[in-house]
Amino acid sequence: LTDQFAEVITKGDESGNGMIIRLRLPSGLEIIGLPTKNFYGGHWDLGPTWNWLVLADRPFLVDTGRYGQGKPLSDMLAAVGVSPSDLDFVLISHGHEDHDGGLAEFLDLGSTMVRAHRLYDMLIRVHPDIAPPGDKNTFPAKCWHCVMPESFYSKNCLEYHRRLPQIKVTPVGDGVTPISNGFQTYHLPGHSPDCLAVMAGNEALLVGDIILPDISPWPTFKALYDHVAEIISSEYPVSQAVFGLGAYLRTLKKLLQIAEQQPNMIILPAHRLYYRDQWNIPDLKTRVRELLDHHVERCAAILEILNQGPQTPMEIAQQHFDEDLLKGFGSMMAANEMISHLEFLEEADDVKALDDGRYERTGDERFETKIHTLQPDY
Ligand SMILES: [Zn+2]
Ligand SMILES: [Zn+2]
Repeated sequence: LTDQFAEVITKGDESGNGMIIRLRLPSGLEIIGLPTKNFYGGHWDLGPTWNWLVLADRPFLVDTGRYGQGKPLSDMLAAVGVSPSDLDFVLISHGHEDHDGGLAEFLDLGSTMVRAHRLYDMLIRVHPDIAPPGDKNTFPAKCWHCVMPESFYSKNCLEYHRRLPQIKVTPVGDGVTPISNGFQTYHLPGHSPDCLAVMAGNEALLVGDIILPDISPWPTFKALYDHVAEIISSEYPVSQAVFGLGAYLRTLKKLLQIAEQQPNMIILPAHRLYYRDQWNIPDLKTRVRELLDHHVERCAAILEILNQGPQTPMEIAQQHFDEDLLKGFGSMMAANEMISHLEFLEEADDVKALDDGRYERTGDERFETKIHTLQPDY
């Protein structure tokens, strides 16, 4: 990578923290990679969040890192001669805290316009009337069912929750939306309902967490829809259009279409581009195929585990994942990952949910055909 089109402006550590890189695309467009620190503990380390500065006629920034990273990010911008007030807008790739955590602080430094998918605009608001009771009552809707435990959010997220709902967003729509001359977004839900990828010319695709090298992005699950249905159902009446493994797999199919049209496009992901002293430059088509295979294998593994009889998502997770990944709140994340797949298997009629929270096999095995025949658009 570095020899061909990227210049390392600042050398960072072995995970890419503190690194600044400059890419020069064939058209002359420059994109600067600005990874900010991101650590949640345990063995689910994503590595830093790669925020991207696109030096269009009027530059724009994609993502702002975690809470507390707004100022470090603006310092990195200053190192390449750009200040927050120079930006046309800041675009948030999706509503996870490692991408919009630094937003409020960043706006304080002089940037004004925020763009994000319309679901993001809806879900960062507070709705005390339908929020869960207790301390989550004043949280943005997207944070009501976060898997992080109280010990984490009470220490890390309170100010984030307080500031976020007040931010004005210029919403981006579904499908393909032009956002600037030569740039468009694709709404590609699944990892989060509001995921956007940004296409720069036909040269680069900034994918956020939609696909990552090295690690498989976790899919949402359909049950999350029910918690926010009152907020979004008039415009998104069907849960599986924006939530769950099915939505994520359709997004992968859409990316395959894009890869066919633009086989030489550079993919710029939000994590793991550089990790353990190595560059991981994904080829879109190859990586999407790997991820599709990964989910086929995971569904197969779950059915295999269920051959022993009905089990809960947590019981399945404990058999499926390595012990390291199950430590601390890792077990919740692992169980959630199982729920996405169990919902999909249930849609395929391969498993049945029992009243006691366990799942059992139906004896059928239709998931693989279902995955292969899924269409890119819902
Ligand atoms: Zn994410
Ligand atoms: Zn992320």
